[in-house]
Amino acid sequence: MRILITNDDGIYSPGIAALARVATKFGEVRVVAPDVEQSSMGHAITASRPLSYKKSPIHFEGIHAFRVNGTPADCVALGTHLWAKTDVVLSGINMGPNLGNSMWHSGTLAAAKQAVLLGIKGIAFSTPVGKDEPDFESLASYVEKTLELLLENDALALYNVNLPMNPRGIKWTRQSVRLYDGKIVPGIDPMGRKHYWYTVTPLEPAEEGTDRWAVEHDFVSITPLRLDLTNEKALSAALKSMPA
Ligand code: MN
Repeated sequence: MRILITNDDGIYSPGIAALARVATKFGEVRVVAPDVEQSSMGHAITASRPLSYKKSPIHFEGIHAFRVNGTPADCVALGTHLWAKTDVVLSGINMGPNLGNSMWHSGTLAAAKQAVLLGIKGIAFSTPVGKDEPDFESLASYVEKTLELLLENDALALYNVNLPMNPRGIKWTRQSVRLYDGKIVPGIDPMGRKHYWYTVTPLEPAEEGTDRWAVEHDFVSITPLRLDLTNEKALSAALKSMPA
């Protein structure tokens, strides 16, 4: 199995090294990741200038690794172009959760979405970050369990996986969309000028069965996603109301 690894935190993040290490148990691994952090870039692509890549072996002993001057989606497009017959794209492990509505901004998830657009299975991995760095050694066994589950068949699919710090199991979940946690907070810079921070505010507990609920209760959350955004209910109502 050919496994392409990428992320949005950049190739020097400890999360991508941890994911690549676990992935070697499942097949041939190659890393193609952004040369600098691209968090919250969503599904941006670089179409106004050329892309290039450089060998980047540090942190990836025995694994071919390359850094790209582009976004996570660029890395998947370029990586799968250069490495024919990629079977699956794994993205992460992101330093920070990608739960609920944050999926709209996530570069980590966008890389997995880009894989699916190209006809390749895509799986995104994220973990919350507290005061300390995540302990990727202790998460490794759950990343492995998740991959065993999700790589069982080769059907085209998109999954968003979030790992709490000390998991006690794995839950299938749906996306929590009740609340949005993005908020603009004004401030004053050292020169006395007004500026604005786009911040993430903590949300109240989520509904049972959702991704956020699972992670809050120390379960690994796996959400199967789709790319079709069509509102089926609105479409069928509109089709019915259209005069013949
Ligand atoms: Mn990130």
